[in-house]
Amino acid sequence: MSDIKKVVVLGTGVLGSQIAFQTAYSGFEVTAYDIDDDALAAAKERFAGLVTTYRNEVPGAADGKADAALGRLTYSSDLAAAVTDADLVIEAVPEILDLKREIYRKLSAAAPEKTIFATNSSTLLPSDIVGATDRPDRFLALHFANRVWQFNTAEVMGTAQTSPDVFDRLVEFAGEIGMVAIPIHKEKAGYVLNSLLVPFLNAALELAAGDYAEPKDVDNTWRIATGAPMGPFQIYDVIGLNTPYNIMVNGDEHAQRMAAWLKENYMDKGKLGLAAGEGFYKYR
Ligand code: NAD
Repeated sequence: MSDIKKVVVLGTGVLGSQIAFQTAYSGFEVTAYDIDDDALAAAKERFAGLVTTYRNEVPGAADGKADAALGRLTYSSDLAAAVTDADLVIEAVPEILDLKREIYRKLSAAAPEKTIFATNSSTLLPSDIVGATDRPDRFLALHFANRVWQFNTAEVMGTAQTSPDVFDRLVEFAGEIGMVAIPIHKEKAGYVLNSLLVPFLNAALELAAGDYAEPKDVDNTWRIATGAPMGPFQIYDVIGLNTPYNIMVNGDEHAQRMAAWLKENYMDKGKLGLAAGEGFYKYR
């Protein structure tokens, strides 16, 4: 298995910028690719923000290490030039299947044979996308959680066609960039994290929306009785209420009732979660 030295991240939004920065922070040369100069200007702002976040939140980052990461990042809006010598491409473009397939077709035409392709998709399976690549053996999912420097899991999930060597190499790579690799033996929608988290969060919402218990008391139960650091409604606040709302509003009748409850009692009052200063809880 060839070494991984040059990494390209496609899409420099919320997650792509974090993945690119964390990878550069860990010592790799990283090219951040996005569609145009405006998107790259936004990426530079995100990276500058991450320098501050790392200095404040990551032990050891204050001594210039976070600033040094910036020096290992280059920027490109030319896909072919960006991937010309890439060992690994991590894709974090919007969660739209047709868009992902289009970018993998272009990427397959442009990247050298050695390049491994990894998707950070949360809800699409790698087998939904693999047909758009020219290298099913070198394609798999590498799924990060938001705030990669803090919530540092990297779920590794291939298709039946992914080469075991490539899979193992990405498990190793995840460790090299400071992640705890979670190898997943076969495809599973939601990976491990969301297979656990989504039913848990739904159950909590049913308790509150059904007027069985207050959100804070649901959280108290979970924290006190299990020793967990956070309750489900604290987790909702961190995620932001928009994401679960958008999923539920397109679901079945029951899910739509839950969405309506969230909207009426919280979202319409500007209580959108931690980033908005208030959700189920108030934040300073
Ligand atoms: P985002 O909307 O914040 O960022 C997407 C970026 O992709 C933008 O910078 C956009 O300009 C760029 N882009 C659009 N079209 C492109 C193209 N054709 N080529 C290259 N770049 C293009 O999205 P996000 O939240 O960072 O999500 C990206 C991926 O990461 C999705 O697959 C999502 O499921 C996954 N993910 C997101 C989270 C999260 O919490 N946001 C967590 C885990 C995984």
